[in-house]
Amino acid sequence: MKISKVVSLILAVAMLSIVLVACSGGSGDAVLTMATNAEFPPFEYLEGEEIVGADVDMAKALAEKLGMELEITNIDFDAALTGAATGKYDVAVAGITANDERRKNMDFSNDYYKASQAIIVMADSEIKVAADLEGKTVSCQEGTTGEQYLLDNEYAIQSFKTGAEAISALTTGKVQAVVIDDAVAKALSDKQNGATIVLDEPLTKENYAIATKKGNTELVEKINKALDELKADGTLAAIFAEYDLAFDAE
Ligand code: GLN
Repeated sequence: MKISKVVSLILAVAMLSIVLVACSGGSGDAVLTMATNAEFPPFEYLEGEEIVGADVDMAKALAEKLGMELEITNIDFDAALTGAATGKYDVAVAGITANDERRKNMDFSNDYYKASQAIIVMADSEIKVAADLEGKTVSCQEGTTGEQYLLDNEYAIQSFKTGAEAISALTTGKVQAVVIDDAVAKALSDKQNGATIVLDEPLTKENYAIATKKGNTELVEKINKALDELKADGTLAAIFAEYDLAFDAE
């Protein structure tokens, strides 16, 4: 009959919407948006079209703990920082050094990795220690703590969007050294078939943390709790080991 058809149609629509709500997790917050710059191996880099790396695996593990779906956007490093600061993205995870300067504009999770700036030179370079950089031109990545270190020490610099471009400036003789985060220096130098080496002299002491919009305490607390759990159960150590990274951020 006509009425029972209408009733069953209403029921069908009602059941369908219940299924749809169940699938979306029943909340508009189920997605964690993350900005990164996939030019920073082994923390984040492209494998074909896919963004992979230690930070990516860590972010996936975090999102899983938070019961959220991770959505990663690959943009320039400075844009990733601004994107987190303005809240365009929930978080930026990009080997980001948490420092006082940045804390003016954004909040950070607890530290998850210890790093330092390192020097890459040509294997036959006369530059053997940091003091030999005096009077040389050094390349670096724009908007990074490596660039800041070089500016603070008044070196002549050439800044590039990516570490890969910074190292090609070295191998093509435009600069005499590169300053970039230690693990990334090693990863980039390893690709040069012995033409370049990383000097064993840490220039700075830095800690990586996850950036969020200032005042986003609720998210920072959730992330810190999840990070603690991932540290305690060995997940984080296992992720970093997979990428040959020493894990010592306790
Ligand atoms: N750790 C450095 C910084 O925060 C570099 C990060 C990066 O280039 N992805 O500035």
